[in-house]
Amino acid sequence: MKALTVYGPYDASYGDVPTPEAKGRFMTVKVEKAGLCATDISIWTGKSSFISDGLIRYPCRFGHEWSGTVVAVGENVSRFRVGDRIFSDSSVSCGVCPDCLAGNYSRCKHARSLGTVNCWDGCFAEYMSIPEYNAYRIPAPVPFEQAALIEPLSISLDAFHGASVDKTSTVTVIGTGAIGMGAVWLAKYLGAGRVISIGRTDSKLAVAAKLGADLLINAKETDAVEAVRALNGGDGCGLVVETSGNEAGLFQALRMVSTGGRVSVLSFYEKNLNGFPMDTIALNQISVVGGAGRVGNPERVAGVMAEYAVKPTPIITHHVPFSGMLDMLKNLDDYRNRIKIMIDFD
Ligand SMILES: [Zn+2]
Ligand SMILES: [Zn+2]
Repeated sequence: MKALTVYGPYDASYGDVPTPEAKGRFMTVKVEKAGLCATDISIWTGKSSFISDGLIRYPCRFGHEWSGTVVAVGENVSRFRVGDRIFSDSSVSCGVCPDCLAGNYSRCKHARSLGTVNCWDGCFAEYMSIPEYNAYRIPAPVPFEQAALIEPLSISLDAFHGASVDKTSTVTVIGTGAIGMGAVWLAKYLGAGRVISIGRTDSKLAVAAKLGADLLINAKETDAVEAVRALNGGDGCGLVVETSGNEAGLFQALRMVSTGGRVSVLSFYEKNLNGFPMDTIALNQISVVGGAGRVGNPERVAGVMAEYAVKPTPIITHHVPFSGMLDMLKNLDDYRNRIKIMIDFD
């Protein structure tokens, strides 16, 4: 089968590698759709702290946002059959440690992340090997391309973990990448009365509008902090979701959140931040809550995709065939206004 392997910064090629066999509780799955994520791009460019820290190592069979069809099952697979449409956790648990044997696969300390840290061969390949205990059935009405968005949107869902959102709520989302878009989409699904999307590119803000954003702020033209602070009689917004991944965005979030409000941080900054306004957080009783996806989120997001009339499809701004993926990586500037590039397999 064909797989795209990254051997070092800006060095990748398609290779012919053995198709994984289905043994024990493992299944061979044909990849149907795969999303390209910022992490994948940083593996391609080498500009990632995960690489400089040695957590992600070359050669790397990357890719972790995917959906596919089961084509073969091992002798101990009981929950899936050939032909089932599935997606998976973003890591593969060992299956043999005490946690795994107790069924707590998410606590497995030997888990290997798909296509990233301690790399399990990822989804930029025609086939993958996935154990049944990390796999989930795609709900019938959800197409493969939406199912490949479940992984990033599971991170978006963490913005609301333990938060109460209702029609009196305003949710402000900073950043117009896939995770920010997912937060806009989920905020409306959860019933937020008003959702504000802050970005720097009009075409991406237009996607936020399609997903339900009520107010769009282009931060290149408008002082976003002033605009959001003006809400609620100058007290700011009760729930601000930071997805931009740059520290200016985080500090803006802390300045536009209301007294007693919450900032949900869904980004990686790849460094420790100086200038964190701790006194403002204390004085204004601000909760800063981090999230990177958690157990249960993928199934929940799949359920929302199945039942909610608004579909997250506008997040997909480009389609590229798998055979054209390397060319796309070499010419990423041609995709400058991308949100999510979806890789299509034959
Ligand atoms: Zn990702
Ligand atoms: Zn384990």
